[in-house]
Amino acid sequence: HDGRTIEARITVFGDNERLVLARDVTRLQRLEQTRRDFVANVSHELRTPLTVVSGYLETFLDQADQQESPVPPRLKRAFGQMQSQTRRMQSLVDDLLTLSRLETSERQTERQPVDIAALCREIHTDAASLSNGRHQFTLSLDEHRTILGDANELRSALSNLVINAVRYTPDGTTITLRYLDHPRGAMVEVIDDGDGIPKTHLSRLTERFYRVDKSRSTQSGGTGLGLAIVKHVLLRHDARLEIESDVGQGATFRCVFPASRLAAGSSRLT
Ligand code: ADP
Repeated sequence: HDGRTIEARITVFGDNERLVLARDVTRLQRLEQTRRDFVANVSHELRTPLTVVSGYLETFLDQADQQESPVPPRLKRAFGQMQSQTRRMQSLVDDLLTLSRLETSERQTERQPVDIAALCREIHTDAASLSNGRHQFTLSLDEHRTILGDANELRSALSNLVINAVRYTPDGTTITLRYLDHPRGAMVEVIDDGDGIPKTHLSRLTERFYRVDKSRSTQSGGTGLGLAIVKHVLLRHDARLEIESDVGQGATFRCVFPASRLAAGSSRLT
């Protein structure tokens, strides 16, 4: 009552004994909401000044060589650094906004039919161009299926997984994007045969800003929010993320969708 939220846990002993533990989590929820709103507002407010700074830097660097008195190389390098750091901040702010939008909107996402095979093809093409010939790509698609969800959210989740595979694996690695039909749902897997991730890190990978190797992640342009975004997108699709990896074993990131998220009539014809 009173708009309060009570969390209750009931343990049943034998036939007629029950242990009920109830906890008022209203205050906790309000605090959490305040935190989310704060992050969303700050990220939003930071966007405009960053766009202005990055616009001026771009113009300056474009014109640096065309001026009558050329800009000294040391100054140009410094401005180049400012530009790349500004871009990093922009990605971070964009990811923070994406994450807080995912956290604050409805628990479940839309149920629009999404052609998952077409989406995989699109992501595969983008990733190949990002890798610029440094990796080999394999695309494996089971029978066509339609997932009920939000195409933009799914695109962002799968792109994050494939971009990570490009970022964190050495040249020559094979990256596979696989869509599997499953009797109880569907799976999209991103598999690489790179260096892998030590098992001890796996359970914490989807936490915000958790990185296995911080300097490598920062250098490669990661914000530390990619897998947190993936996890939230999947949660909103009643799906889950499974991660399998170990040192020297490559990595598999598996998105498992339940049958309730497959469009009726899009199942196998055989
Ligand atoms: P980031 O922005 O740092 O990439 P993510 O949440 O996307 O943040 O990933 C968290 C960490 O997981 C990365 O910093 C990296 O150490 C590790 N990681 C993710 N994908 C892979 C992969 N395919 N191979 C090895 N390490 C990975």
